[in-house]
Amino acid sequence: MSGRALGLVASAMLGTPRLFRQRGAANVSALLFHRFFADGEPRQRGIDRLRRELEWLRAAFVPVSLGRFVEGMADGSLPDRAVLVTTDDAHRDVLEVADTFAEYAVPFAVFVCAGWTAEASEGTGEDLLARVVSAIQWYEGTPTEVRYGGRSMVLAPARQAANIDALLAAGDIPREALSDLCSRIDALSPKPRGGCTWADLRALAGNAAIGIGAHSVSHIRLSQASALRRRFEIAESRRLCETLIGRCEAFAYPYGTDDAHSPETRTELAEAGFSTGFLTHSDFITTRSERLTLPRLSMPDDPMGFAEFRARARGAGIVMRRLKQALRGARPA
Ligand SMILES: [Zn+2]
Repeated sequence: MSGRALGLVASAMLGTPRLFRQRGAANVSALLFHRFFADGEPRQRGIDRLRRELEWLRAAFVPVSLGRFVEGMADGSLPDRAVLVTTDDAHRDVLEVADTFAEYAVPFAVFVCAGWTAEASEGTGEDLLARVVSAIQWYEGTPTEVRYGGRSMVLAPARQAANIDALLAAGDIPREALSDLCSRIDALSPKPRGGCTWADLRALAGNAAIGIGAHSVSHIRLSQASALRRRFEIAESRRLCETLIGRCEAFAYPYGTDDAHSPETRTELAEAGFSTGFLTHSDFITTRSERLTLPRLSMPDDPMGFAEFRARARGAGIVMRRLKQALRGARPA
């Protein structure tokens, strides 16, 4: 076990996360997973680990769906120790674990990066613009000029934001030209993402216990984007989830760090109709929490031991974060 994991486990065993619970309020936790399987790991090992975690979660907490969470935050009806399990990026892992979650009656929510899903779906309909924006944003080839539909664009990592802003500002680019641009970028910079398609997510969303939320279009730090791009990333990801999956119940910020959001992004979320937004700092949630910047307890991508999982789910990461904050504050300027 790493030093960090040992610290988390020790802190949970001493019960220190309890010190950060708010008195007189229901303290609720949102957990964040990205992956459920390590690279190269036998699938059954990952499923067995998840079974143990879900069985414990079911016994120690009250698992709620995203729909129930949003409703409970609005009317104050969430029970103490309610827990919401969330996953970001809609990796194909979620398709393999959905039955196991159902077996233990633990609901979970999937936050969908609309452009990545459009790319995985090779979308040419409603999602074509999202697919092009994501392809430009994640272009990893050498700087290259591409011509499409009588226009041209110099693809290069340093020009991603400017290219996308120009594309969004033009607004009237014919579908054939966008399609053409997409195929050219894909040919120059092929990238297997292994993400869910819209059809996969529609099938999952047929189960009411599986929540659907938006996670932007192209997975950028929204606070650093232009106003035009910010609006597109937030409103378009919502529109695509609603149109192509059938629901969009909340938003999760890409990266979820302090520098991922700003007053402008929060205004934009509200204007796009979101009541609930998640970040990734560790804390408990109460009905007094600011709804558009809710914390989540992160689970690492690498498989962790059962003791570390329980420590993290109990909020040991909160203790670590507060300690770090206190140390930063105590350091002479
Ligand atoms: Zn993400």
